Amino acid sequence: MELNMAVEAGPTDVVYLDYNATAPLRPEAFAATVDALQSVGNASSVHQAGHDAASRVDLARRRLARLLGCASSELIFTSGATEANNLALHAVSSGDGALVATAVEHPAVLEAARAITASDHGQLIELPVNRDGITELGPLEEACRRGGVAIVSAMLANNETGVLTDLAPVIKMAREVGALVHTDATQYVGRLPLDLNDLDVDLLSLSAHKFGGPQGVGALFIRRGARFPHRPLLVGGGQERGWRAGTLNVPGISGLGAAAEAARIGLHDEAVRVAGLRDVLEAGLISQLSDCWVNGANSPRLPGVTSVTFPGAPADAVLAAMPDVAASNGSACASGAPSPSHVLLAMGLSREDADSTLRFSLGYATTERDIERGLDAIVRAVQEVRRAMAISAEP
Ligand code: PMP
Repeated sequence: MELNMAVEAGPTDVVYLDYNATAPLRPEAFAATVDALQSVGNASSVHQAGHDAASRVDLARRRLARLLGCASSELIFTSGATEANNLALHAVSSGDGALVATAVEHPAVLEAARAITASDHGQLIELPVNRDGITELGPLEEACRRGGVAIVSAMLANNETGVLTDLAPVIKMAREVGALVHTDATQYVGRLPLDLNDLDVDLLSLSAHKFGGPQGVGALFIRRGARFPHRPLLVGGGQERGWRAGTLNVPGISGLGAAAEAARIGLHDEAVRVAGLRDVLEAGLISQLSDCWVNGANSPRLPGVTSVTFPGAPADAVLAAMPDVAASNGSACASGAPSPSHVLLAMGLSREDADSTLRFSLGYATTERDIERGLDAIVRAVQEVRRAMAISAEP
């Protein structure tokens, strides 16, 4: 599927409502990436071309630092949030204490935590969530009382439902027992204002393509002074202060920086605008379709995300019935073996309801017209699938 949005910001025939999977490249990021691609220079080289590449990286680091409210020197560029999450957890051996993560983390946290604790014979404590997607902190409290917690990883915003985690009590409990706090902020960065001066986490992961940068580039924030063991995943040439060896992806990093800067400008107003569009979509679906609900509707959520269950309408069939709408089902099917969303199951949905859930995610280039067209197409597709299911269920 081709999307010209970033380059021309014009409409295409596809209503793109899948920003949580990846956002269209922002024009500023496109320009910065292409500009860097057209130049030569390894950011580690000592000649002028190397200095030019290094100054592109410096600019991107400063732009990202401004978006996050941290120092440039606290940022390590990676290949994305998957690597950033793995790096954050990998450094903390579960021999140093239990790893604690919410049950609704992205697989890039949960699978990393499972692999680490399996190889260290350590303990992974998964924090359950309630029906609204809010993390229950009882097991964390208990683990802290028993002692021996090494790190707590809790995402700022869930990728499937958009439900936000209130990190304040998590940070407080972790601080009392000297545990590190990591947050996967991949879906939050560039969507809502964030200030690391106020949010006292030790580590934070992000990925550029969720806020309009290129795919395959991201960063890990490591707070200065954090008691974080220096155990890199990749060793070699010592780039990124020894945290992440390998020639820097200068075009990708330049695009990330430009996207961070573009996202920062007008972030608050943009969040309000996008939330307004999301609310129109939700209200339209609920009023036009009988029997559907929004997961996490009672919780604080990201502005541009809605997870809607349409009982009796399997998500895959609905997606197939609306080829002009790009949205996501909740299943983890990257491996080719679809399984129901662990997030929705953790929130207490039945397998059948989880399989009848679609995620629509909006962002900076979403227009009112997209929502009008999207709403019509979704309503028609759900009605069509429900009708077909009813006919096929007839004796
Ligand atoms: N964490 C969250 C919450 C995500 O939504 C994603 C992307 N779906 C990732 C981590 C991984 O990001 P990437 O694939 O860019 O490494």
